[in-house]
Amino acid sequence: MGKIGVNIVSDFGRVLRVDLSSGTSKIEKIDQETVSRFIGGRGLGAKIMWDEVGPAIEALSPENKVILATGPLTGTGFPTASRVIMLTKSPLTGTYMYTMAGGRLGANMRQAGYDIIIVEGKAEKPVNLLITPDGIKVREAQYLWGMGTTLALYHLKNEIGSSFSGAIIGPAGENLIPYAGVSTDDWRQFGRGGLGAVMGSKNLKAIMVEKGHKQISMADPGQYKQIFKRIMTDFKAKPGNGDSFARYGTGESQEARSALGGLPTSNWAQCTFSKARDISMNYMRDNLGLVVKDTGCFGCPLRCGKLTLVKEGPFAGASCDGPEYESIFALGSACGIGDPEAIIAANQLCDELGLDTISAGVSIAFAMECFERGYLDREDTGGLEVRFGNSKVVLTLIEDIAYRRGFGALLAMGTKRAAEQIGQGSEYFAMHVKGMELGGYEPRTAKGQAIVFAAGNRGGCHHAIGLPVFEELKLGIHKEIEGKGELVKRHAALRIIQDSGPNCTFAYNRSFDWQNWSELLSAALGHTYTIEDLYTAAARINTLERCYNIREGFTSADDTLPGRLMEEPVPDGPGSGERVSPEDLRNLLEQYYTAMNWDTDTGIPKKETLEKLNLEWVKL
Ligand code: SF4
Repeated sequence: MGKIGVNIVSDFGRVLRVDLSSGTSKIEKIDQETVSRFIGGRGLGAKIMWDEVGPAIEALSPENKVILATGPLTGTGFPTASRVIMLTKSPLTGTYMYTMAGGRLGANMRQAGYDIIIVEGKAEKPVNLLITPDGIKVREAQYLWGMGTTLALYHLKNEIGSSFSGAIIGPAGENLIPYAGVSTDDWRQFGRGGLGAVMGSKNLKAIMVEKGHKQISMADPGQYKQIFKRIMTDFKAKPGNGDSFARYGTGESQEARSALGGLPTSNWAQCTFSKARDISMNYMRDNLGLVVKDTGCFGCPLRCGKLTLVKEGPFAGASCDGPEYESIFALGSACGIGDPEAIIAANQLCDELGLDTISAGVSIAFAMECFERGYLDREDTGGLEVRFGNSKVVLTLIEDIAYRRGFGALLAMGTKRAAEQIGQGSEYFAMHVKGMELGGYEPRTAKGQAIVFAAGNRGGCHHAIGLPVFEELKLGIHKEIEGKGELVKRHAALRIIQDSGPNCTFAYNRSFDWQNWSELLSAALGHTYTIEDLYTAAARINTLERCYNIREGFTSADDTLPGRLMEEPVPDGPGSGERVSPEDLRNLLEQYYTAMNWDTDTGIPKKETLEKLNLEWVKL
């Protein structure tokens, strides 16, 4: 850590702790040394998870916690700094879990005077947690229980007023589906890892925070304003890749991804999709006129959200904020669905019922492959033709999953547990790591991405330790094995600092380089962070997350990939013939462990690494 650069130290770190069992709350403060080491958002959340959610705690028990963490930039109006990080122990994976969403909630938390909210215990009956600048109210929510997210939010906000913003679960969370998500009141999703089920297990329908009038302070407001101005100018000059990101959002890339052989299709049996153009946001917007409005998070000039509406045909009336890239892949190409209107309908249903679109789509894609291979028949599926391309069956299954009905009850367990039940070798094409369904990338043709899926701290997600695939493709090094450990370490570091700001990932490769981050966080927190300090902070957070999972019993044997990706060469596209053999994966993991100064064989952080990162208090 660098020396203190200014005398003023930020007051970031105010915690509201709520006990649902007793209906009480109290205010606590995180000391500034801890803040300076873990920053905020994901970093501080990891520290709280380590301290408070130990290995004896069951994910769906009252002892598990729901943590909402903002960061020093949240609510300041800084572009893309709208994120809130939610953390818990995952009912899907049993690992440390965090998920994030933008919107207005983070700004409300900080303006109400709460940087972090920790919810523990369990209410006796369904409740809404209302948080105001003066304290909390735990209100009865039986009348909303069972309601979809949009209608429930409509009634709740009608009752409490528009000065509140927050997050709510749908029937999937109430029914404890392990990949139930949480929706915000501005159509954003805390999607991954089952936060919705943990809220459901606490009888907690919604957390709503009232906007207050607290001034959000910066340790060095002058420096902050200068950087703000510089970055806003930069944003306006280049809002993304030309104007296309602002116009199409993340859904712009399906066609390009397919052309590169990187769009998982039919449960990763292929990597190119013949209907990739049809399901891209470019086509939805410019050719089909499905976009009715651009939407955005608090303070963000990019407005990458695309509110879509289907006006005619079999899906008339379907509407959602999106779909964005991951939902298009999971509910589209992964299931062999090339009808964008069907994808919008499926996305809407997931959001209404409160299901993670990625886990839902990949679980259904897995079932489709089981059915087509004859591992399941109509008797198993309750008469459903669970085949690739059957959009009607996707909609039926989403609903059945959320209510644990019929065949849906099996898929509600997630791909890993469903494969264990179906057996017959189906684990080979169950596309998960540590129980987390994979995001929409093809690691066989981008070997750094293989490390991300195998060794990410929340299971097979595409986010937690970066997204190196784009740099790999740009540099033409995607098929190479050597050098990927250091590459992933570098991507992970930037991602972790972004998540601890916390800022939106889509700012990546725009105006947020290391120099900007060091100046910004120094201005916000009142410590002089060098770029080296930030690398150290990122390594500290990454290592602590890994230690959390090791304490839960995970080992390097869990850092693996689905059999298909290791045994089956890519059949189509420019990456044809590529795979990540078990030997390749071992090599890649050893590179990554070595780069992180973890034991090369076991992936366990070394004692000297823990000491160097000021994590000497971590005992494994
Ligand atoms: S880029 Fe999109 S998701 Fe990110 S903060 Fe802006 S509007 Fe929200």
